[in-house]
Parts: sequence; structure tokens; C-alpha cells
Amino acid sequence: MRSTPAAPATDRPYRLEQIDEAAVVQLYADGFLKLSTNDRILVWHLYQAALAGRDIYYDQRYRHNLAMRDILEEILSNADGVSADTHRELVRYTKLFWINTGAYNNLTARKFVLALTQDALADAAEIAAANGARFRLQPGEGVRDLIARYAPMFFDPTFDPMVTSKTPGEGRDILQASANNLYVDVAMADLEGVTERHPLNSRVVMADGQVVEQVYRVGGMYDAELREIVRHLENALPYAQPSLANALRALVRWYQTGEEADRQAFDIAWVQNRDSVVDTMNGFIEVYMDARGIKGSWEGVVYYAHHEKTEKIHRLAANAQWFEDHLPVDPRFRKSKVQGVSARAIEVVFEAGDSGPITPIGVNLPNDQRIREEYGSKSVSLSNVLEAYEHSTLESFRQEFSWDDAELERAKQWGAFAGELTTEIHEVLGHGSGRMAAGVNAQPQELLKEQYSALEESRADLVALYFVADPYLATLGLVPAEHQAEIVRAEYEGYARTALVQLRRVREGTQLEEDHMRNRQAIVYWLMAHTESIVVRRREDRTYYSVAEVEAFRAGVGRLLAEVQRIKSEGDYPAARALFETYGVHFDAGLRDEIVARVDRLKLPSYTAFVMPKLQPVCGADGSITDVTISYPCDLMTQMLEFTGKRRARLPSL
Ligand SMILES: [Zn+2]
Repeated sequence: MRSTPAAPATDRPYRLEQIDEAAVVQLYADGFLKLSTNDRILVWHLYQAALAGRDIYYDQRYRHNLAMRDILEEILSNADGVSADTHRELVRYTKLFWINTGAYNNLTARKFVLALTQDALADAAEIAAANGARFRLQPGEGVRDLIARYAPMFFDPTFDPMVTSKTPGEGRDILQASANNLYVDVAMADLEGVTERHPLNSRVVMADGQVVEQVYRVGGMYDAELREIVRHLENALPYAQPSLANALRALVRWYQTGEEADRQAFDIAWVQNRDSVVDTMNGFIEVYMDARGIKGSWEGVVYYAHHEKTEKIHRLAANAQWFEDHLPVDPRFRKSKVQGVSARAIEVVFEAGDSGPITPIGVNLPNDQRIREEYGSKSVSLSNVLEAYEHSTLESFRQEFSWDDAELERAKQWGAFAGELTTEIHEVLGHGSGRMAAGVNAQPQELLKEQYSALEESRADLVALYFVADPYLATLGLVPAEHQAEIVRAEYEGYARTALVQLRRVREGTQLEEDHMRNRQAIVYWLMAHTESIVVRRREDRTYYSVAEVEAFRAGVGRLLAEVQRIKSEGDYPAARALFETYGVHFDAGLRDEIVARVDRLKLPSYTAFVMPKLQPVCGADGSITDVTISYPCDLMTQMLEFTGKRRARLPSL
């Protein structure tokens, strides 16, 4: 156990740069060198399979994304002679474009634009063309026409303004208000009475008055990318031990047929692979981008187990039944027998699509509730991501939003420890806990629709906030008993602060869109409304959310958890909607402006993107791969251009 979360002595670079609100941080995978040669080669093939799907997510997120990226990258790769001002703005915009996989902020879902005139962009494109850039022109089209065609996408914030809009306002349709490419000309009303055969892996389009599913599969939509992924997965098979090989074969089959039954077979095979050191997530997985919460965004993640940290998590998982039995919810909604919760701390080697360059810190899969109940789930916490966050967090951040020195000191001493522990409880015990009410046979996603993701994240957070204060954790040796009270207070203080500080991420409008942000605000605002645990304090025109009573905080968390679990178990959509409409979605613009001003004064980032490690194969005389090396590019642009097979241009002379 770590008594103080002190940083290991190292002067390697973590924070590389900041672009507007985005910090760019290098991710390190130190354990890679300790893997066996076989496992390193296995990682290489899985890494190739993950990289091969990167463009799928670009296209899912916005139908013009790949064309826009191509224009930007062609200019930046052939920029010699472009004016310094234009070049600087192109670099800023393109970096944000790469970080967010397109021109929509991943937290606010809102479009950001290129701060150039159309002429300036067209001039730059013509210079690039003269330098050898190859633009994809339509017959008879010149470079300036190409730029004119894409002008609304680059410059007009009101054209396709949001990638996902779950709360577009009265009378507006959530699918039509969302610019993503998961639906084409389809409204919610068109889907009434329609049962999708490929709910997770299809685009739904209106064609000649008929609702049609375009299936993501080999021979269907994304054929070229999926074929490439399949090829690399098959190359990985000889290096995979049997349970991983089973999962990879099932994945290949799902990509080939696109059928729901094969998706289920893959989920089951994936969850049953519990002991391979190296593992991967590859597929159409999370549903946050879909306003309906049904379509899966493509992602590829490659990782291996971090042994020391995993041991701690195993202690939580091994006691999952105890925690289930002590959930403060109606016993009808508890599992009488918890299916194997498998949990690990991992180090990520590569993330693309929906999980990179912006990454989650913990993941629990599969999302299919029936498979979870019958086969259990696998849960991972991304330990090298957490480490990189810790190393790159600015001290001034905590200082600005802590009410007093005691809170600041607690945050410094215990914040990281408490954060890691609650993330583990969230993933290992939170998502895996609870069950549907008897007689409710539909999936909770279907019943709770656009409220599902925020409700499920709230549930997992509440489980973590509730149990982090349980003395049983000390009995298990997961927290030092003599410090638990301080750790709990630090966690609750950090949680309350987050509801305030996260407003910096939503600079426009007065609504939260992102589900984790909705969930955190809903919990904190609900506690404020129903308990004395959190008070709003003001000092010198600054607002603070300050924890007054730890006991009342925990009791409130227990009460809210009981209600949130009931809503999920019964699929009570009106109650879910009311909870988030009242506490989770709306916020005060004046308060947000205050937070933004405080953050901007300190130049604090709102979110973080990661530069991935770089892998390279070592080949023998016959061309076969004999080993794989790892290095750290420490440069976002170099890595992004490499991924698309382009090279960075010489910078214009200033
Ligand atoms: Zn979660």
C-alpha cells in the first residue's frame, strides 16, 4: 500500500504542451520491456489491429471528418511558404481536431471553428498544392472550390453545431439535432416499432421512405478497415494463449458476419478470457456518442496487466459478494450470487478511436446487461494513465478551488490515493453490481434511453462514494484504518469540487451533455438539495463547494443510491429524466463564467490528450518479426501524421 502518493523521482517529460483548453501529455508503458518476447510481438499485432480501425471512429463521429482531416494534413505536410500567422492557426485547429477526433469538443459536444478567412485557407491550400500536396478533388474542381465546399464545416459554428444533443429543447428531435454519422435523415419517431437487427453495429438511414440498417461488417460498411483489422487479429493468433485466441476468433467472426448472436458470442469469449497477460478491447463498444444510447463507437485499446496493483484490486473483487450484500438498496435489486468480477490494473500501450487520444481511466465491459448478469464482467483501471495525470496536474488547480489550507493539504496528501481507490470501486464493484427487477426483461438501455449512461455512471460513482467510507475496506487492508477518515473526507471534498470545476469545460450554453459530467453534477446538486453535507461558500467573489458533514454526505449517497438503483432495476424512464433535468443537466451561466475566468487566469487545462508510445518491429533476415521496441515520440503532430502515413513539413521561416 502506498502511504503517500508521492511522485517517483523522474524528470522525463509528461506535460508536452497546452492547446487552448487541452493539455497534451506523454503516456509511458514501462512494463512493456518486462513482457516476454512472445507477448511483445502479440502486442504489436493487436496494436496494428487497433490502429487499422482509427478512421472508422472519425467517420462515425462526422461524415465529413476524414475529408476535413485530409485537407488539414495535406496542408501541414506541405506548408513551406504558408504565412506564419496562417500556419500557427492551422496548427492550433488541427491539433484540437486530432485530439477530439474532429471539430467537436469531446466534453461539450459543440463545434469549434478555424479562425481564418476562407481566402487564407484557400491560399494555404494552393501553396501546399504547389509544394506537392494531393487533394481529393471532384472532377473539374480546383483547390479553391474544394475549400469553398468545406467552408461551412470549417468556419460556420451554426452549421451542424453539435455532435450529440441529448437535450435539444422542446419540439426538437435528439437524432436530427446530433451531427454524428450514426443516423442519416432519421428521427426518433421513425424508429417507433422498428427493431434493429444490429443495434450496436449499424448506421440507420432513411432510404425511399424506409428505415434501413447499414451494417458495419466485412462486406458492409467500413469493409476496408474491418478487413485490415481482421488480418492483424489473425496475425496475432499464433502468439495468443488459448482463452485470448478464443476471444480474438470470436471477434473476427463478429466483424465478418455483423450478427448480434456473434457479438454476444464475442462478448462471452472476451469476458471469459481472464488470465492472459496481454488483452485488447476492439470493437463497437461504448454508446455515449449516440443520443439514443444504442450505437457503439469503434475503439481499439491494447494493454497488459500491472501485477502489483492488480493484487490490490483482486482483494476488492474477491469480496464482491460482501459488498453486494451490503449495498444500501432494496434487497430485490441485489444479486444473490455475484458472477466473477474480474478486475485488473493495466498499462495501456495503445488507444485509438473512441479511447484515444482522450482516454478513460477505468473501463468495465461488456455493456450487455444480460451477459454481465450471467457471465460477469471485466474491469480495468488504467494505471499508467492515472500516473500520467498525476504527474501532469498543476498544483495551482487544487489551490484555487480548495476552501482552506486543510482541504488543500488533504487533497495533496490523499487526493490521488482516494481517486484511484474510488475509481477501482466504481469499476470493479459499481458497474457490476445490482440486478434488474423480476419481470423486467428489456435491457436497461432500451428502457432508459438517453438517460441510461448518466444514470449508470451515477450508480457506479455512488457505490464508490458509499463504500470508500466502509470500515470493511480497512479490514481488507485497502486503506490504512488510522487515515481512512481523512481519505474519505479528501474524496468527498474532491468530488464536490469537481462539480464546480468541471463547469470550465462548458464555455457555451447552460447545459451539460457529457454523461459523466451530468452524473457528477446530479449527485452533488442532489446532495445539496436533500442534505446538509455540502455548502456553497463565497469569498472575494469566488465560489467554493465545501463539505460540511462527512456523515451526512455518506448517508445522502446511500439514499440516492437506493433510488438510482430502483430507477435502473425498474427501467423507470420518467424518474431518470426528472433526476437529471432537475440536478444533472442545467447550470448557472454566471457561475460558469466565474469558474472560466479563474481557470483562464491560471491557464489551467480543461481536458487532457495523450501521445501514445510508439512500437516498432525488429525483423529477422527472413522478414519475420523477432521482437518489438518501444519509444516515446513526445510530440502530438509527429504521431498523428505518422498514423495517416504523412510526414511533417519543414516549418515556415518566421
Ligand atoms: Zn463508469
